[in-house]
Amino acid sequence: MVVTGANRGLGLELARQCAADGDTVLLGSRDLAAGERAAAELTTAALTTAELTAEGLTAAGSPGRLLPVRLDVTDADGLRAVATTVRDQLGRVDVLVNNAAVHYDTWQNAANADLGVVREALETNVVGAWLTTQAFLPLLRRSRHPRIVMVSSEGGSLASMGGGIPAYHVSKAALNALTRTLAGDLEREGILVNAVCPGWTATDMGGPGGRPVSQGAASIRYAMDLPDGGPTGTFTRDGRPVPW
Ligand code: NAP
Repeated sequence: MVVTGANRGLGLELARQCAADGDTVLLGSRDLAAGERAAAELTTAALTTAELTAEGLTAAGSPGRLLPVRLDVTDADGLRAVATTVRDQLGRVDVLVNNAAVHYDTWQNAANADLGVVREALETNVVGAWLTTQAFLPLLRRSRHPRIVMVSSEGGSLASMGGGIPAYHVSKAALNALTRTLAGDLEREGILVNAVCPGWTATDMGGPGGRPVSQGAASIRYAMDLPDGGPTGTFTRDGRPVPW
């Protein structure tokens, strides 16, 4: 599986959980050194836990592999290069999690927004997820159970949207539209495309007070673990529908 923005926050926790369950996880990071540091810390932590428990590392299943890769979702050439390497070395991708995002812009509103910030949010949160999906689609098509998960936010829900946080709101609403459109386009191929909200989670973006990353990541995993023929084009948090 491929996770974007996985050197910290929800992406890192998701990578940790999935590797612990035996998956081969490409830990995407736009700064490779940051991804390598994060993976090394996880591996050390896993070994430490194994030493402290009678069951050892296999207690949570066979540990998988964490493979840090340089992956900037705004860099089309870089994405193509990673996809080529993955094709040559692993052959396929079963799950793509478009998790990377920027600019939870609580400091501005639509009327006075810095449109440079808005452009950056659209470039990463929407076009970045789109580019990444296009880059890995040929490898997802080689999987028997392909899944694409868009890590969105209730902040992108038109049904509950009010003023404020304009770059984030608009970009996540567009990501939701992309989810529905891709889901329709790929349905006949059996590729499930779903959006999830991880809930307010204590990360650099979410700030203190949110729920633990373990719960936010579990909300994402729901859409990864859907059965063949399962729902596509949905928007959920903790497996329950969020109004569009
Ligand atoms: P975070 O801690 O701020 O982490 C964001 C990640 O995205 C970082 O790894 C960052 O890399 C990466 N990123 C940014 N631009 C990138 C690019 N161009 N290419 C590749 N990676 C890039 O955020 P988080 O809270 O874990 O959020 C993860 C996802 O959950 C986001 O989609 C967010 O919108 C969503 N979400 C979060 C909450 C919450 O309360 N935390 C709630 C709802 C939805 P760098 O380290 O290099 O900056």
